[in-house]
Amino acid sequence: MKITALNHRVVSVPVQYPVISSVRHNSQIVFVILDVLTSEGISGISYAQAFNIHGAKAIKSCLNYLEGIVIGEDPRDIEKIWRKNWETMKLLGLQGLPMFALSMVDIALWDIFGKSVNLPVCRLLRGTPGAFDSYQSDGLWLVSALEAAKQAEEFAIMGFSSMKMRLGRKYMKEDIQVVAEIRKAVGENVEILADVNQGWIAEQAMNMEKHLLAAGIGWLEEPIEAENMEGHSRLSDKMQVRIATGENLYGVRPFQHFLQMNAASVYTPDLQRIGGITGWIRINSLMEQYHILSGIHLFPEFAVHLFPIIKYPVKLEWMGWAGALFKEPLKCEEGVVKTPDRPGFGFAWDEERIAQYQIE
Ligand SMILES: [Mg+2]
Repeated sequence: MKITALNHRVVSVPVQYPVISSVRHNSQIVFVILDVLTSEGISGISYAQAFNIHGAKAIKSCLNYLEGIVIGEDPRDIEKIWRKNWETMKLLGLQGLPMFALSMVDIALWDIFGKSVNLPVCRLLRGTPGAFDSYQSDGLWLVSALEAAKQAEEFAIMGFSSMKMRLGRKYMKEDIQVVAEIRKAVGENVEILADVNQGWIAEQAMNMEKHLLAAGIGWLEEPIEAENMEGHSRLSDKMQVRIATGENLYGVRPFQHFLQMNAASVYTPDLQRIGGITGWIRINSLMEQYHILSGIHLFPEFAVHLFPIIKYPVKLEWMGWAGALFKEPLKCEEGVVKTPDRPGFGFAWDEERIAQYQIE
């Protein structure tokens, strides 16, 4: 079997809850979607969030570059291709959009491998398809206390026993009010996680801590700039609230450095920034060696194949943004997500919908 083409398109998908965080404000999610075609008619799919059309065009350009590198390779030679692409991207930089493209190719190759042997990807990783508790991540953006309380109540009624809210409003007293209102709305038995999306400096995190403890916040995610390892380490040392991070770290090595520095209690690597499944396998092994909690940032369609082999998992992040792209989208019922027992990742594009959303 040989790789014959990398086909990519850009889609812009509307979302139910407009994304308002410290780093972005979007009512549409722009994805680059990829099909890796082969000589035997099996194709692998993957997607990445491009944030806007300019990001999408740059990712497409990187994919065009990688196409010239991987054409003619056997797609089942995943490790070989990953290393070759890694070498190829070294001078463009193993961070940012080149890494998105590399990761997308890797994910699609795992899909092909699964389809070629008629097994779900979790089986290739020696895992068992399973059912995983998730937390609702779609919603609770930087909205008013009233709106946040209303959403939180709806999520609890939908069966979520865990949900993530965003922090980083202009005035700390607004954040304090929203935290208290959400806790009041859902009662004591629902887990509330909080994500600042890199919006604070360390001092703000420490000033906020007593309010987070009072509301029983499960973790504080990316309180400060993602690359600030020393800052994360200092906060982890000084604060009782668990610090979570990882979604904006690139490649594998930063995770080792963060672990060595005790910089966080929970890690949520992002598949489009760490080299896809092949990069994640390396990170997952590090997490296990350090006996540390970890999950996956977004990509529930792929994450649900990886959770079976995480030794110390947190809940799966439920975000339905990409669901509109698939014929049989992943479902979250009563807060539980199940690994599809289908070959590869188990998803096929809904071409009609994609035609509707395609912008490039
Ligand atoms: Mg986050």
